[in-house]
Amino acid sequence: MALLFHSLPARGAVWADVFAKAGEAFIPNEASVSDPAAVTHLACWQPPEDLSRYANLKAVISIGAGADHFPPLPEGVVLVRTIAPGIGAMVRDWVVMATLALHRDLPIYLDQAARREWRPQTTRLARSRRVGIMGMGRIGRQVAMTLTGMDFPVAGWSRSGSAVDGVEVFGADVLDAFLARTDLLICLLPLTEETRGLMDDAFFGKLPDGARLVHAGRGAQLDMDAMRRAIGSGRLTAAMLDVTNPEPLPDDHWAWSDPRVIVTPHVGSHTDPEEGAHHALNVIRAMRGGDTPPGLVDRLKGY
Ligand code: NDP
Repeated sequence: MALLFHSLPARGAVWADVFAKAGEAFIPNEASVSDPAAVTHLACWQPPEDLSRYANLKAVISIGAGADHFPPLPEGVVLVRTIAPGIGAMVRDWVVMATLALHRDLPIYLDQAARREWRPQTTRLARSRRVGIMGMGRIGRQVAMTLTGMDFPVAGWSRSGSAVDGVEVFGADVLDAFLARTDLLICLLPLTEETRGLMDDAFFGKLPDGARLVHAGRGAQLDMDAMRRAIGSGRLTAAMLDVTNPEPLPDDHWAWSDPRVIVTPHVGSHTDPEEGAHHALNVIRAMRGGDTPPGLVDRLKGY
């Protein structure tokens, strides 16, 4: 029983140390596999071509928070994504940064500064900017808690509409009502068949005029041309994107040069290798004990 690590060697070195201390078998790369039958767990971002060599494989662990890019796995192999405190904290930080940047008109001031123009805009109180968070999972809840503490009126939208303390949560079937009360929209959804292409012309049409968009979910959830039209019509005034469609954003893409759009290159979080290794140990131990591994991806729901 061993975990095969299939990613960057520098990260693998940290994992090797954590596994050695825990007394668990660790294989640092495919070239070091002497007995494929010993491989029960695989940790990677992009899986190797041929998984059929690992006849006793039980789980593939995505070393990131998302697992939407994985191909279908062989029968009997579960897909697990990494749950690590640092991931949620880092994405929360990025989203709070972006929320404040758009709330306080940073795109306008950056544009004015490029022309050395000193022109104050009207400033609004946080309590008058209604924030709406799509995706009230591990990360969305942390963001909601932080922004609520900063006086923003926060509501959430999730598939189930499950209650979250201190936050009004709308269920999947009441998207229109959620969008109608949202001045600053934050997307923290996983990419699934249901969320792919969600933010299109009709979607933006349901927001109030002058809304702002913060996107840290997955690029394919956003129709960037629809976003451009929404910005052109005044429906949206600004957007800050950590994920784009396509990704990476081509160097001749209009969004790079539109002052109302700020793009960062998918840097919301990265998995701290030590935290990732500890998560993998938790997965191995849970499965050994017959329990559900943390971060198990539900194949039917897609996240
Ligand atoms: P979780 O699985 O904990 O939460 C997902 C949330 O999305 C849940 O509230 C879920 O609803 C909701 N949801 C899923 N599908 C739908 C749908 N069709 N309609 C409405 N709501 C839906 O995920 P995390 O919070 O851990 O992460 C969220 C996403 O953030 C990741 O999947 C990834 O795409 C993105 N991310 C981005 C990073 C970056 O660097 N930019 C880094 C890390 C993550 P319910 O509560 O009912 O299940």
